[in-house]
Amino acid sequence: MLKQAINELYNEFPYNYSLKYSGKFKPYRGNIRLRGNDVQLNLSKKWKTVSKDIQAGLIQELLLKIMKKRLRPLRKNTQSMELYNIFMKKIHVAAPKTDINPVLEESFDRVNRRYFYGLLEKTNLVWGNHTLSKLGSYEYGTDTITMSQVLDGNEELLDYVMYHEMLHKKHKFTKKGSRSYHHTSKFRKDEKEFENSKLMEKKLRNLLTKKRFSFRNILKDMF
Ligand SMILES: [Zn+2]
Repeated sequence: MLKQAINELYNEFPYNYSLKYSGKFKPYRGNIRLRGNDVQLNLSKKWKTVSKDIQAGLIQELLLKIMKKRLRPLRKNTQSMELYNIFMKKIHVAAPKTDINPVLEESFDRVNRRYFYGLLEKTNLVWGNHTLSKLGSYEYGTDTITMSQVLDGNEELLDYVMYHEMLHKKHKFTKKGSRSYHHTSKFRKDEKEFENSKLMEKKLRNLLTKKRFSFRNILKDMF
């Protein structure tokens, strides 16, 4: 399968290559490493049971990324890559919903009622780290929204960031060549539909500045 996936992209491929399935990834993730002359592909073991055609699509996406400035591909789009992207857009249906934090669920339900007619299907909902650099994220493979604990206790900003992540589930992504776009103009337009979205952006910036400041003070106290 690996050989076939490579041949479809490159006339000549002057590297050694190998593929490993690993349990250390989140479901349906994978990565690629290039060391010297060796290309190592690592895929989440969830991929093992998925059709080879679809796996080939992921492998080709990873190859195109890492070979970008090294090898010119014969094509930047294959049928396998198309299949892979369809798969990733649909996989949330199959992901088990077992991890739903009640506080986040209330936020999800509020936003769902208000902006999605209650129609967006529930995702897994978990708290992430206490981080300022990533307030929220949506992971397609596990259908999980993760929220930074920085937002805990601030209902309106929690809802605002929740809305952003829910839009990711609604819009998924758009492909142009081998690139995926997540924040499309349609996405941005929807994002502005949130009540007082401009004010929310401002409040979000204020919160971050304030928290950054207090982080710095904590650090000062420690040293
Ligand atoms: Zn986003």
